[in-house]
Amino acid sequence: MAAVTARLRRAPALTLVLAGDDPASAIYVRSKEKAAGESGIDVAVRRLSESASLDELLAVVEGLNADDRIDGILVQSPLPSGMGRGAAQRVFDAIDPAKDADGFHPINVGKLVQGRAHLAPCTPAGVLEMLDRSGIRISGSRAVVIGRSDIVGKPMAMLLLHRDATVVICHSRTPELASVAATADILVAAVGRAGFVTRDFVKPGATVIDVGINRVQDAAVARSLFAPGAQRLLDFEKRGSVIVGDVHPAVAGVAGALTPVPGGVGPLTIAMLLKNTVAAAKARLDA
Ligand code: NAD
Repeated sequence: MAAVTARLRRAPALTLVLAGDDPASAIYVRSKEKAAGESGIDVAVRRLSESASLDELLAVVEGLNADDRIDGILVQSPLPSGMGRGAAQRVFDAIDPAKDADGFHPINVGKLVQGRAHLAPCTPAGVLEMLDRSGIRISGSRAVVIGRSDIVGKPMAMLLLHRDATVVICHSRTPELASVAATADILVAAVGRAGFVTRDFVKPGATVIDVGINRVQDAAVARSLFAPGAQRLLDFEKRGSVIVGDVHPAVAGVAGALTPVPGGVGPLTIAMLLKNTVAAAKARLDA
């Protein structure tokens, strides 16, 4: 980063675009802004109202594309429903691929599929970083990814494939899901359902990566996840909600390694965003 800053004669610059009032999105953007600022990135947030049109958002993106002082652009999803179906894809398509800090532009997705990603999607890239830093062997392993979204499941599967894992992608129509999952050495859950992955999904000793971030507000669901008297259940009773992953906490008793929620994949996702911003700044200098 210091070398890039010296060559640019300014810090790498990232703009986060937040459209609408989704409370979770506001929290994610605040976390990204804080982490970027603390790491020395010149970060700004552009806010649009819940009633903003897709054209207004596209105009903001065009302005950022044209601004030579901006290295990275991230438009937080989900977008306001009033922007219509397919709005997020139109916005991702509009971001200059060289500034695409999230790696969602079709050119960057294509490069990812070809195994030459320069800006890879942050959440799956963060998962890979975590596996590597934890000394988990990927090459030759069997990996099962539950979820096939463009943001997490598909790029996760591609990154694991390029590291020589044998990869199975599961989704809402996969039969015998638990038994397929239980063949995995590395199991990645990116479903968006609290506690969905139970013990029977997990081979003893497997590495389990919990990507899900789910806010539970139903006491019955909270009680199905945490034992009576558990601290997390007490927290729920105090606050009326609790953040949990897609993996049931009881999986800790069978997995060889399990990422926590909150605190596991989330912070790595943000770290990869910062890495992508610096990589984008460097590539723009070298172009
Ligand atoms: P998504 O809704 O786009 O995709 C969910 C996927 O799960 C779909 O592909 C669907 O086929 C699959 N699915 C749904 N129900 C299923 C079922 N019953 N059985 C099997 N598969 C099923 O969600 P997403 O954007 O991929 O996000 C997934 C989760 O990850 C969410 O909880 C989200 O909040 C979280 N997330 C976390 C981070 C992070 O930084 N940690 C980043 C992105 C997303």
